[in-house]
Amino acid sequence: MNLSEAIAGLDLDRFAADNLAGPRRGGDEIRASCPRCAKDEKLWINVRKRAWVCYYCVGADERARGGVVALVMWVLGLGEVDACRWIMQRAQPGHRRLDHLESALSEAGGAARVIVRPLPEMPLPEKFWPAPMHPYAVSRGIPMLVAAANRLGACVGGKYHARLILPCVSDGRVVYWQARAMWKLRHDDRKVLNPENSDCGCRRVDGTPDPRCAECSGTGCRFASASEVLFGFDSARRYRRVAVAEGPISAMRIGPDAVATLGKKISVVQALRLAYAGVREVDLMWDADAIREVLRAAPWLSALFLVRTVVLPWGDPADREPAENTALRMAAPVFEPSAYLMRV
Ligand SMILES: [Zn+2]
Ligand SMILES: [Zn+2]
Repeated sequence: MNLSEAIAGLDLDRFAADNLAGPRRGGDEIRASCPRCAKDEKLWINVRKRAWVCYYCVGADERARGGVVALVMWVLGLGEVDACRWIMQRAQPGHRRLDHLESALSEAGGAARVIVRPLPEMPLPEKFWPAPMHPYAVSRGIPMLVAAANRLGACVGGKYHARLILPCVSDGRVVYWQARAMWKLRHDDRKVLNPENSDCGCRRVDGTPDPRCAECSGTGCRFASASEVLFGFDSARRYRRVAVAEGPISAMRIGPDAVATLGKKISVVQALRLAYAGVREVDLMWDADAIREVLRAAPWLSALFLVRTVVLPWGDPADREPAENTALRMAAPVFEPSAYLMRV
């Protein structure tokens, strides 16, 4: 974002509410008390023209009128360079909020060791065949383009025989996958199998993994774990607003702007990956039985994103047509952290 975009994007209502006394909006005009002369309703901001004037001060001081930069200079008492810097910082609220989250996490005593590392490529299982038009994927209503973007396939032998392989693609590489049963489960069948990880093998003198290790960045694991990756990431990262589903089939039934967390929780690493990719709004859309987990995640996610909570009356997004999932997202309320804190 450049400076003129940032100036054009500054929310003047928000600016007035945060920095001026007694702002009142009427039509295109905000009238407030001027911080220099302290006269009520003498400072007028026209939000359509993005111009302002203090009718009291302007008689004695030509600087008491102008555009957005002059307004920030006047109200906050800044020079032009500092006013522009201030506007630029406000234009990228996500970055400010990331700083806030990371410092909050480190103040928490390092209890959560957050390592957002470059993800190593994970080999696909043996006997893997690409199959974006696999009859099972078609029967679950997954559009072929979405299946192809996510490099869906199936195993025709080996440990994962007859399972649908759902790769997590990140920066063009497969970094994780799940193997999902396509048959009707019997009592001891596992619906989803996860790949085996292996120890990186790097060691410091005290026996712990080496934070400088180029392979694992100190996680100790050669490959990514499920909590470090998101299904659908490469496709969804192009969107500003992203749906967060539980399972890959749900994500694919929501659309190309959806990821799956591979479970009823989202890790700090998963959330930071989305935030660093430029995602600014998330719609939490886990299965109907995950309301408690949604309420646990939404408060801290609000430090990073505008969060909407999509409460499904039953089932999961995989049971619904994409249009119905979209309608549920559009009707979802924005999660208000302050309201939540007051209720608890
Ligand atoms: Zn004034
Ligand atoms: Zn290592």
